[in-house]
Amino acid sequence: MEKEDKTISLTSLEPRFKFDLAGRAGAEGLMHCFSCGTCTASCPVSEIDPEYAPSKLIRMILWGMKDAVLSSNLIWMCAMCYNCSFNCPQDVRFADAMRVVREVAVEESFAPPERLAMMTEIDRFSQMLRHLILDRLLKNPPEGPVDETLLVQTARDILSEMNPGGGE
Ligand code: SF4
Ligand code: SF4
Repeated sequence: MEKEDKTISLTSLEPRFKFDLAGRAGAEGLMHCFSCGTCTASCPVSEIDPEYAPSKLIRMILWGMKDAVLSSNLIWMCAMCYNCSFNCPQDVRFADAMRVVREVAVEESFAPPERLAMMTEIDRFSQMLRHLILDRLLKNPPEGPVDETLLVQTARDILSEMNPGGGE
């Protein structure tokens, strides 16, 4: 297999990118990041996806890797849980900055406008499913441990009740 070329071309960097982002409400703190990595260590998405690292995304922004950032699927992976913001010693407010990055990605046609509506719908659905799973387990506490198998089965039960006959 051919090795992927991850070399950064200095001529493709856009030094103004970080200033343009930091000039928008929500992303002002980006310039204060000192790469401590605390955000990545406390991020639940980084825990399940090794490719996703908020501290790396900020580094790419500060280096001016505009095209790579705005075209990356990673900017859509943030679950907006704000763990990173609570733990950041520099008050960078990464989740708010990601909202700005997503808006710019759409404005500059790196992503279709429908993407923002899709994200809102996915977040709403995820929250609803979380609420329904919790509600069910609180009303009928399981005798054994709550593990992934139990959660998947509970989610399946809920989804099939919501959509009887779905997928058949
Ligand atoms: S925790 Fe804050 S300062 Fe540390 S890398 Fe993340 S954003 Fe930067
Ligand atoms: S807000 Fe996003 S980047 Fe920050 S910890 Fe949550 S999922 Fe990770």
